[in-house]
Amino acid sequence: MNTLPSVHLFNTLSRKVEPVLPITPGIVTLYTCGPTVYNYAHIGNLRTFLFQDLLKRTFQVAGYEVKHCMNITDVDDKIIRDSQKDLPAEAPSEARHAAMRALTDKYTKAFFDDLEAVKIHQDSFTYLPRATDYIPQMIDLIQRLAAKGLAYPREGSVYYRIAGLPNYGCLAHLDREGMRVGASVDADEYERDAIADFVLWKAAKPGEPSWESPWGPGHPGWHIECSAMGMELLGERMDIHSGGVDLIFPHHENEIAQSEGCLDHPWVNLWVHGEFLLVEGEKMSKSLGNFYTLRDLQKKGFDPLTFRFAIQSNHYRRLYNFSFAGLRAAENALKRIRIFRKRMEKDAAPAGQGTWKEAIDPSKRLEAAQEAFWDALLDDLNAPEALAAIFTLISDVNAQDDRIALTREERDAVLTFLDMTNQIFAGWPKEEATIDQEVEALIEQRRAAKAAKNWPEADRVRDELKAMGIVLEDRKDGTVGWRKG
Ligand code: AMP
Ligand code: ZN
Repeated sequence: MNTLPSVHLFNTLSRKVEPVLPITPGIVTLYTCGPTVYNYAHIGNLRTFLFQDLLKRTFQVAGYEVKHCMNITDVDDKIIRDSQKDLPAEAPSEARHAAMRALTDKYTKAFFDDLEAVKIHQDSFTYLPRATDYIPQMIDLIQRLAAKGLAYPREGSVYYRIAGLPNYGCLAHLDREGMRVGASVDADEYERDAIADFVLWKAAKPGEPSWESPWGPGHPGWHIECSAMGMELLGERMDIHSGGVDLIFPHHENEIAQSEGCLDHPWVNLWVHGEFLLVEGEKMSKSLGNFYTLRDLQKKGFDPLTFRFAIQSNHYRRLYNFSFAGLRAAENALKRIRIFRKRMEKDAAPAGQGTWKEAIDPSKRLEAAQEAFWDALLDDLNAPEALAAIFTLISDVNAQDDRIALTREERDAVLTFLDMTNQIFAGWPKEEATIDQEVEALIEQRRAAKAAKNWPEADRVRDELKAMGIVLEDRKDGTVGWRKG
């Protein structure tokens, strides 16, 4: 196998930028924590999913295969609360489960619609497990932890005994002195100063949808879901596990405790976390009125791909301060690349005013751009610098093309580079020519043939148009119009 370029990433575990050395050469296993589907995703969530898409595409375009698993959390306290609120106290179990499923189906669909709009394609995921399809695996994992003395039941719930795991706190770099040994928390999310034994299985409260377990009816805690699905689908070791920075503690810390407590060996080689998105300098919240979904941006007239570009113009490990001014700037920058692409697609008049002496070899410029592009991305996904390499190329090539037009071969080499970068950034695809553009191009070809008195060529093009069902409106001084016959 050819040696693939080495991707370096900042590992939250070691706090260092490290090369990713896949467990199976050439294949990267990636687990990313997916959405809790009880509401629409907001643009902060989308920032995290976009950074993970950039991560995956970088590996893929560099030549790796990526086995990507993202879970859908379709059971948790918030989902239960929202889906059950209109059901009567005497509602049967099937109705409770059906109401939960209706709610999670609705928001799972909305979530994938949003992902598709920003070109995170559903078929780019190898596995998209729903938590409720893996309850037996979760129960099994809890039993294995209980057998090792790392989990204990209490009043129908089960808790993880953090004092039993010497490296508990390794990811969040917790101070073990501060742990309240023996205390326990029932909430899935809590602050660092509330470190305690966390819940693995939650006893059902009256009126809650539930599953049978050795400890009585209940539902899994949030943290155990990812451990069970990750181990089931990606195996006992994986290369990369990722989420937003808010997941470092307690979610990912607890995932490590569950999986490594069971496996007795490291579970994940690299933990990669994306920074938060702020809105106009503040945390997004409904009460501040700065809480946006992709739909809100679309209502204001923005293309989802502009949002994608705005996000990817910033380094994933920096706070990104979202603003509408920033979105407009992204719109202009993206336009610049698209216009440049169109310019390269067209042939230019071969002779400019300059001389070859003034010209700088475009293939050297292209080589430099390729190198700068990959140096940046392979170094902890430095997307802003990778994009800067594209903009430098645009300035250089435009300046040159104004003086001495690039040849068709040179233009094609630039287009190949733009196609490759588009496979990662997904913002400047080759647009399918519309039938109108195709007809106009053929009419122009016929005009040029006639001007050159190349009658057989002019006739050939006319026949081609005829075969397409196009009727030309010719006058002595040329074709003045056309219609579909
Ligand atoms: P959730 O559906 O709440 O579990 O969140 C899904 C993903 O979005 C997680 O990886 C979170 O870390 C991430 N996330 C939540 N809020 C933000 C934000 N404001 N900026 C960036 N990522 C976020
Ligand atoms: Zn998770």
